[in-house]
Amino acid sequence: MSAIYPGSFDPVTNGHIDIARRGARILGHVTIAVLDNSHKNPLFSIQERVGLLREVFLHDENIYVESFSGLLVDYAKKKGINTVLRGIRSADDFAKEMPYAVWNRQLSGNVLETLYLPADPALAHVSGSIVKEVAAHLYKNRHDDIVLAHMVAPEVRTALQDRYIT
Ligand code: ADP
Repeated sequence: MSAIYPGSFDPVTNGHIDIARRGARILGHVTIAVLDNSHKNPLFSIQERVGLLREVFLHDENIYVESFSGLLVDYAKKKGINTVLRGIRSADDFAKEMPYAVWNRQLSGNVLETLYLPADPALAHVSGSIVKEVAAHLYKNRHDDIVLAHMVAPEVRTALQDRYIT
């Protein structure tokens, strides 16, 4: 069995890594699908986000990384995959996710189903946007960045340093 794990991954965090690995353990294979949302002004380009994810999952043989644009249902159909994997950090995440799951199922003619994994409580506070905010502050003010070590992989920490230390 195989699932698509879609998201913006700007950048990939330890929360994403945990969901992808747990999902792959249950489902067999996971394809991480990075949404090409250049119009949203991401910190890392689509190539950089895919590159960081590929570095992070270099030794995970059952996790693949690709980019996609357009509707998730079209991408899933093209890949021949009928399962979407998402992580849930909070009731707020769940409320936001529900309509997407319903839309994706209806748009696909009841083919594409969404499975949710609860976030590891130790990582439920981690999001790409907070990581970016904290990193910008720490690096611009030359503070110790050790706190980021618990939230992102070493490759991502280096990429954040490169982006913010001028
Ligand atoms: P989006 O831009 O759609 O929110 P993200 O890249 O932020 O996509 O996240 C992709 C998926 O990973 C979403 O299902 C999100 O809920 C989940 N996720 C993000 N951070 C964590 C975390 N710390 N723990 C578990 N799941 C997470």
